[in-house]
Amino acid sequence: MRGFFAKIACGQAAILALWGSPLAAQEEGKWAIAIHGGAGTIARENLTLEQEAELRESLQAALDAGAKVLANGGEALDAVEAAILLLEDDPRFNAGRGAVFTWDETHELDASIMDGRDRNAGAVAGVTNVRNPILAARAVMTESPHVMLAGEGAEIFAAEQGLEIVPNEYFDTDFRREALERLKAEQVSALDVDIKFGTVGAVVLDRHGNLAAGTSTGGMTGKRWNRIGDSPVIGAGTYADNRSCAVSATGWGEYFIRVGVAHEICTRLRGQKELSASFREMQKMPQAVAEALFDGERALQKTADDVMAEVKQLGGDGGVILVTPDGHALFSFNTSGMYRGRASSEGMSEVAIYGDE
Ligand code: ASP
Repeated sequence: MRGFFAKIACGQAAILALWGSPLAAQEEGKWAIAIHGGAGTIARENLTLEQEAELRESLQAALDAGAKVLANGGEALDAVEAAILLLEDDPRFNAGRGAVFTWDETHELDASIMDGRDRNAGAVAGVTNVRNPILAARAVMTESPHVMLAGEGAEIFAAEQGLEIVPNEYFDTDFRREALERLKAEQVSALDVDIKFGTVGAVVLDRHGNLAAGTSTGGMTGKRWNRIGDSPVIGAGTYADNRSCAVSATGWGEYFIRVGVAHEICTRLRGQKELSASFREMQKMPQAVAEALFDGERALQKTADDVMAEVKQLGGDGGVILVTPDGHALFSFNTSGMYRGRASSEGMSEVAIYGDE
């Protein structure tokens, strides 16, 4: 028992820092967005200055598209969709056009989206001809009684919803084909040929206080047997809950599924919030003390880093983006880089690639 209270006392600062202070209360009208375009071995020597500039431009355009929806008072889901649509249509990223090749030289796409208001969610897995899988995921959420549809059935559904259907070759790019050829010739893994993973995702808080998250990917180069990763799995690659956070992940999907990364982060944050509320009540913590202890971003960062450390411990790597109800937008990754960006109503707007930025 004593140990329990000692632990509580030690964790008190961090917990109060995160949720207990009135400073953490949601400010009316705040918005925030974070996006990613994949994590992996992203080193300066692997990108020319021109490539780097183009990637930053693409990330900024996606960030701006989402931010514009939010600044105008739009809905969280619409902002997620706006950002991801641009990245899916951009051949540089492993989602939509530019998706990696399967072992059989085709493309199989996965995507998911989640609404933090009611935890409604939609996902598609292994679709081969839907131009924008994120739209199909959203249609599954809003126009079907299901959460996840796969393969041909998902494609029939998408066509019935009037979504744009394209030939599988639409997703082809030379550099992704070369990556598959290298993987086969050199008998190396997807991690060796995917200089970056390139999956895309967005997480947002809108002005109405609602959270949403979305993720879209072509999976991993050379995947076989209709392999499906974490991106369309609600709780692994994507999760949103107005009570805690919105998360989108990228990385070695098998490990993210095993850890249940997106849900795990949200659950830990919700637990901390509940604990801090009851603790404050017990202690009748004065506001000034709570304010003095306020250090929300650090505590949040630690929670995300702890979950990513679990992924690493099992042998996986990758990263996550995270937005909270009080407007924090942050990243955690255990790779050398992650294509990422964040913007907020406080005037922040930044994109980054390497780990040391
Ligand atoms: N997580 C994705 C998958 O395993 C890949 C990625 O994020 O790049 O399918």
